[in-house]
Amino acid sequence: MISMRKFRTPDAVIAGAGFSGMTLARALAEKGVKVLVLEKRSHIAGNAYDEKDEQTGLTVHRYGPHIFHTRDKAVFDFLSRFTDWNGYEHKVLANIYGKFMPVPFNLDSLYLAFPETKAKALEQKLLARYGENTNVSILELLKTDDCALHELGSYIYRNIFETYTVKQWDKKPEDIDPATTARVPIRLSRDDRYFTDPYQGLPTDGYTPLFCRMADHENIEIHTKTDALSLMRLSESDKKLYFDGQPFCGVFVYTGVPDALLDRRCGALPYRSLDFSFEVQNTEFFQPCGTVNYTVDKDYTRITEFKHMTLEKSPRTVILKEYSKNCDFARGDIPYYPILSPESTALFEKYTAALAAYKNLYLIGRLAEYRYYNMDAAVSRALAAADEILAAHFACGASV
Ligand code: FAD
Ligand code: UDP
Repeated sequence: MISMRKFRTPDAVIAGAGFSGMTLARALAEKGVKVLVLEKRSHIAGNAYDEKDEQTGLTVHRYGPHIFHTRDKAVFDFLSRFTDWNGYEHKVLANIYGKFMPVPFNLDSLYLAFPETKAKALEQKLLARYGENTNVSILELLKTDDCALHELGSYIYRNIFETYTVKQWDKKPEDIDPATTARVPIRLSRDDRYFTDPYQGLPTDGYTPLFCRMADHENIEIHTKTDALSLMRLSESDKKLYFDGQPFCGVFVYTGVPDALLDRRCGALPYRSLDFSFEVQNTEFFQPCGTVNYTVDKDYTRITEFKHMTLEKSPRTVILKEYSKNCDFARGDIPYYPILSPESTALFEKYTAALAAYKNLYLIGRLAEYRYYNMDAAVSRALAAADEILAAHFACGASV
């Protein structure tokens, strides 16, 4: 039971107050749907949650660095209703035995890696084969039959991808979903930004204030520290969804891990989790850019220094080291990344097939859809889902 509920009979219940859940909540609320949002953490904003570090007053991203970037104007326009943007464009360097090299590996990285004559010859070959301003994935480059380009591919594989990927996924690059390494292509230009999307930046005063403004609507009621699983039940016999002890006929949107809805009866869907280690450093800047990837050594994958991204000023700085590990739910780990493979996708499909029997249950979001969504993709999906839900359940308008 939730005490002190405003909506005794919500039209929609949403489990999870991340980008997926809150975008949906807002889009439905604006059409008159009364939405009850349940979030098991003590705060809204999901993995985008940020707050001020107590010692320095600098903004930190509690669940890892989040840089907004998109090509989707509709998504940008939607979020821009709740925030201004600081215009930050993310830069990443690889630390290769103490030497910094731009990531994605680009034409400038080439000249840092090799003597000039060799770099020039490789540049000409790359441009002739793939074209200027194009992207090539590491796995594609390694397939080349040209000896010199193959040697270059092996260099990039060893120095940028191999160790980092083993740390992040406990698997080699060739053994994970190829779309994952293709997120960071070899870039045949001198553009040293991590993302090339036209809209980029961080919310000027942070993600959490963005979420607070998105949540500020008379048709939205939020309860944090509330696990939706403790309030809902999927009945096997009548294929009905029960909420708070009663059959629930409204719409139920679930943005958490889907196997948990069925007690993991077909086995646990695999996710990667992270340990975060924040450190205050007594220096104005710790490193030359927002994120440095440790691509050949160290236990952590990357170090992020937030003030490069938030553009805040302080004589001190806060850095974050990320350590990747398998997600063990029994240990209380938080799932961050779906581990995509043919086996895990087949398992996910088993769960979605079983859950399809519950006609008012929607699985939306990075965890629930088992997809490697960036924030913009999560928002885009949630906006589309809101339209689907409105058409299917509230065609005559919500009961306001
Ligand atoms: P989430 O943010 O995970 O929100 C789901 C919410 O549901 C959580 O708050 C969770 O507590 C809650 N929940 C789960 N189960 C229940 C339950 N049973 N009851 C109640 N609540 C529940 N994307 C970018 O675009 N740019 C980036 O730079 C970027 N960096 C990232 C860095 C890291 C380390 C990670 C892990 C992700 C990053 N992402 C980035 C991706 C981004 O975090 C996701 O796209 C976004 O968070 C997806 O939103 P979501 O609402 O689907 O999921
Ligand atoms: N990757 C890598 N070296 C890098 C950066 C990325 O090997 O310096 C690989 C790694 O497998 C990683 C994937 O590319 O998981 C995607 O990187 P991205 O930065 O998109 O990951 P995220 O920010 O989502 O953790």
